[in-house]
Amino acid sequence: MTAGGVALPEVGPSTMESRIVKGLHVAGEILDVDGPIGGFNFQSAFATGHAAGLAV
Ligand SMILES: Cc1cc2nc3c(=O)[nH]c(=O)nc-3n(C[C@H](O)[C@H](O)[C@H](O)COP(=O)(O)OP(=O)(O)OC[C@H]3O[C@@H](n4cnc5c(N)ncnc54)[C@H](O)[C@@H]3O)c2cc1C
Repeated sequence: MTAGGVALPEVGPSTMESRIVKGLHVAGEILDVDGPIGGFNFQSAFATGHAAGLAV
């Protein structure tokens, strides 16, 4: 995953809603998450996308 992006403390982990911009949900590559190769970036994108999708 690309380094940099939205800092994780700025995001609610169960809804992926920004703590700064209410109503804005973020997921996947836009988050400041680095994963090892081998599918963890896809897993992160799917899991955060699922959480955000359930919350909107
Ligand atoms: C070459 C390569 C190989 C990779 N291999 C692996 C791997 O083996 N395992 C792994 O876990 N991860 C891998 N990754 C990383 C993985 O692909 C990403 O972490 C993941 O796809 C991120 O998902 P995402 O939904 O956040 O972003 P993306 O998959 O980039 O999706 C973003 C989408 O938004 C669209 N978009 C952009 N701008 C706009 C706009 N203005 N309006 C509307 N739509 C827009 C784009 O067209 C795109 O469809 C690889 C990445 C690359 C580049």
